[in-house]
Amino acid sequence: MIAAMSPSVPRLRIGSAEIIALADADGPFFSPRAEAFPEATAAQWAEADRYDPGAVDAGGRWRLHFRAYAIRSDKGLTMVDAGIGPADSPAGSWAPVPGVLPESLAAAGIDPAEVDTVVLTHLHTDHVGWAVVTEAAVPSAGGAPAPGTGGRRPYFPNAEYLLQRAEFDALDALNPQLRETLTGPLAAAGRLRLLDGDTPLRAGRTVATPGHTPGHQSVLVTDGREQVLITGDLLVHALQLLHPELAYSHEIDPEAARHSRKRMLSREAVTTLHLAAPHLTEPFIRA
Ligand SMILES: [Zn+2]
Repeated sequence: MIAAMSPSVPRLRIGSAEIIALADADGPFFSPRAEAFPEATAAQWAEADRYDPGAVDAGGRWRLHFRAYAIRSDKGLTMVDAGIGPADSPAGSWAPVPGVLPESLAAAGIDPAEVDTVVLTHLHTDHVGWAVVTEAAVPSAGGAPAPGTGGRRPYFPNAEYLLQRAEFDALDALNPQLRETLTGPLAAAGRLRLLDGDTPLRAGRTVATPGHTPGHQSVLVTDGREQVLITGDLLVHALQLLHPELAYSHEIDPEAARHSRKRMLSREAVTTLHLAAPHLTEPFIRA
């Protein structure tokens, strides 16, 4: 008997590549949503709630999803982000850890060992959670821990991890703890590669989209006039899709973030743009 692949794994085909949405968790945001988007008007909230009704709970709180994406093509398997992580991950101070990414990967038929590339869109804890794990949290993780890393090892043992240099350089301002839990172990394992701007991938390319953080990047996969943009936190709520000018209160540089959003969301009419946004309710939407 052949085990059936879970029908609950959302996928989007683009050309010869396939984008796979991988759930890690969902839960309420840690502060009132009006504080997260202080410029949004009542009419804009109402419009966003019609567009993404799953993003508000009965108590009026912002309910967000946490997901990673994979790009599978005949050239390889790329992950984009790594969720909130296991019970001991740094996101545990505010996000509903442990995430279920390992189960989602299994449901999608993905073995972490076959992933050749991990694009980290940025260094917020809800996007890097499973990138590096402790032996205590994931005894079966394949990579050997490098000396001096406290037993931490890359969860995707054969992957090169790609981060923008501008993001790496901002580590002290963003979250110095990640030196010990993320970038140090990756560098010790020889798995960290720093990028300077837009960079080709095996399928698609990274695009620098600064603002949310200094070295934020997204991933664009193109086939003819059709595109899929794996956004990272270029937009974190439907408000910012419907009204790209609206700032999110945790953006490091709101003006740069606004510029990045407008640039990426403005398309010629002949181009079909799909968005794969980790925090929206639907894993894939048409822009
Ligand atoms: Zn995020």
